Amino acid sequence: MKFVKVIVPLYLPKALDYQYLDGQPKIGEFVKVNVGKAFVHGVIAEIKNTTDYSGKLKSATPTGFYLAEETLKFFDWVNRYNIAFPGESLRACLVANKVPEDKSYKDAIVLKRLDADKVTKQRQKVLDFLMHNKEPHTKAELAKRLEVSSSVIKTMIEKGFIKEKEVKLVDSVSIEQHVDDITLTDQQIHALGSICTSIDSNAFSPILLDGVTGSGKTEVFFKAMDKILQEDRGQILVLVPEISLTPQLLERFETHFGFKPYGYHSNMTGSAKAKTWHKVLSGEAKVVIGARSALFLPFKSLRFIVVDEEHDNSYKQEDNFKYNGRDMAIVRAKLGNFTIVLASATPSLQTWYNAQTQRFKQIIMANRYGNATLPDVCMIDMKSEKPGTDKFISPSLKSKLTENLEKGNQSLIFLNRRGNAPLLICRTCGHRHSCPSCDVYMVVHGNKMVCHHCGFKEPFPETCPDCKKDDSLFAFGVGTRKIFQELQEYYPNARIGLADTDNIKTNNQMAELIKQVENNEIDILVGTQMIAKGLNFKDLTLVGVVDADMGLNNSDLRAGEQTFQLISQVAGRAGRYDKKGTVYLQSYMPEHEIFDHLKTLDRDGYFNLELKSRKFGNMPPFSKLAAILIKSKNQHSAQRAAMALVQNFPHHNESIDVLGPAPATIFKVRDIYRFRILVKSTINLHKELKHWIASTPVTNDVRIDIDIDPQTLY
Ligand SMILES: [Zn+2]
Ligand SMILES: [Zn+2]
Ligand SMILES: [Zn+2]
Repeated sequence: MKFVKVIVPLYLPKALDYQYLDGQPKIGEFVKVNVGKAFVHGVIAEIKNTTDYSGKLKSATPTGFYLAEETLKFFDWVNRYNIAFPGESLRACLVANKVPEDKSYKDAIVLKRLDADKVTKQRQKVLDFLMHNKEPHTKAELAKRLEVSSSVIKTMIEKGFIKEKEVKLVDSVSIEQHVDDITLTDQQIHALGSICTSIDSNAFSPILLDGVTGSGKTEVFFKAMDKILQEDRGQILVLVPEISLTPQLLERFETHFGFKPYGYHSNMTGSAKAKTWHKVLSGEAKVVIGARSALFLPFKSLRFIVVDEEHDNSYKQEDNFKYNGRDMAIVRAKLGNFTIVLASATPSLQTWYNAQTQRFKQIIMANRYGNATLPDVCMIDMKSEKPGTDKFISPSLKSKLTENLEKGNQSLIFLNRRGNAPLLICRTCGHRHSCPSCDVYMVVHGNKMVCHHCGFKEPFPETCPDCKKDDSLFAFGVGTRKIFQELQEYYPNARIGLADTDNIKTNNQMAELIKQVENNEIDILVGTQMIAKGLNFKDLTLVGVVDADMGLNNSDLRAGEQTFQLISQVAGRAGRYDKKGTVYLQSYMPEHEIFDHLKTLDRDGYFNLELKSRKFGNMPPFSKLAAILIKSKNQHSAQRAAMALVQNFPHHNESIDVLGPAPATIFKVRDIYRFRILVKSTINLHKELKHWIASTPVTNDVRIDIDIDPQTLY
């Protein structure tokens, strides 16, 4: 008898032993196992002739499905790097902890013999249908479709006219027309050539495809994918931020390739996921477009990855299983020795730095398609502007807007904060209205108050909870809805649109908005970062950024970098066609260095400045960070655990800095108190960190989260 060590998709510290009864086990095989009372699917990690387990071992049931060796290696690497449980990558791979049911087969009814002389009308109907129809139908489907009772079909099977047979369903992915007559520009041809050289090297080659908005990056990586497909090299994964996985993108894909790609993202139904999952496992799915979770699909032979919008925050998963999808994709390419393309109009500092230091190849596409030119950027100094009480559009911006409207051009007003106002303050006692469960202020949304951290809602209070005065509370600050109202007041005849997640909730609403914008049915669009990408305004010549300082005061490591990216993305919306655009940035600190570089959209200049300050603080990319978050409903338990961790830190030397413990920036969320410790080092610390945390005793009411390469400092 054989024994197997099985990795199970649960939060357990190690793999579990099982018996393997029939046949020869293989590493990577998916097996059905029981853990306690639950059954899950696990993967065989090791085959052994003995076991140390003293009790009676349960058995593992073979499934006949196998995880490729390379994929198994990748899962192991990701778990170790992120200090996750051994089953967490597998958990991300499976659908609800199981190998999903393969729906590409079904038990269809087929003809068996036709020699019956006397058949009833009902039976004849069934026979006729089966003779002329090739589409497989199950018993139930057939009965329903032909409106015959199920007993008719049952007797026909018994009498041997027809039988049930397992048939494979053919997936019709090809579409009729395949129009791809786009002629590449010289710039695109050059970029494509460079990517193809990397592909032909058959080695790990990370590439930064650094192209301004409108330079035609997508067409370039599509053509590179054509090469992979034509040469039948293996499977392709295109990762996109979840929000960009729109019907428009899929349609664009279909137009180029002439077939439908397999999609994969968290909002898909279980059966849609199951379908992609099995096609990926069997290798039939040549191309998958997915959000970060698609990285954990059971690829048979992955040979090319594109990470589109590589700078996007959503590649970082910050729930239970914390990992950076972009970085893990790079590791995946490294393990498989193939080419990965990181595409962006506004690359992250980290990727850009990797290109500057020759770790990545950099392909620059600096020219926009056609006649489009980059917009001018002007600062508006808010210290010398008087927008009026509770108004946020400066007189300067207002006069430019008026001018633009009169010319019949479109304008975009950007503010990355939805709702009416960020804060409710009492005029009498200064009370600030905060969430009862979190250490944050509630946000005003119409006639409601909402907590953006826990989702708690309550009606707009009429009296101040502190001083009990009536009508003393007022909404302070600004959100998109308030700007929308301010503009309606100034321009009652203009067609003004509002695009934020409160207003645009579905893909259809977004599609409708895109149509309105493209058909020139909107004069002024007010929106959050959801308008920073994807919208093509033909006549957009003015972009106003209401609060260009937003984000600069925030504690995130990448705050400055992201402000730069976001503003340049929004700026990139202007003048995409023939008309020249102008961008106005409202700021209370126009002398801030970031604006010197934003004025000329000088990304490299800004990055060099930012790198200097990172170097000075010994922050990434010059060091590695790990954030340890210590959480408990009991404030003292959390604090004690945090202190114990710091005291128990194994070795202090020059290359390691332990910062904290300190209360997290938002100390309380959903009634849970949070302390944080930052570990900064110039060497890889994964083993030490794991041992350190495991060996520090903490009380049961404390939970410790580890975030490797955190994006926020908590
Ligand atoms: Zn809100
Ligand atoms: Zn009050
Ligand atoms: Zn809350």
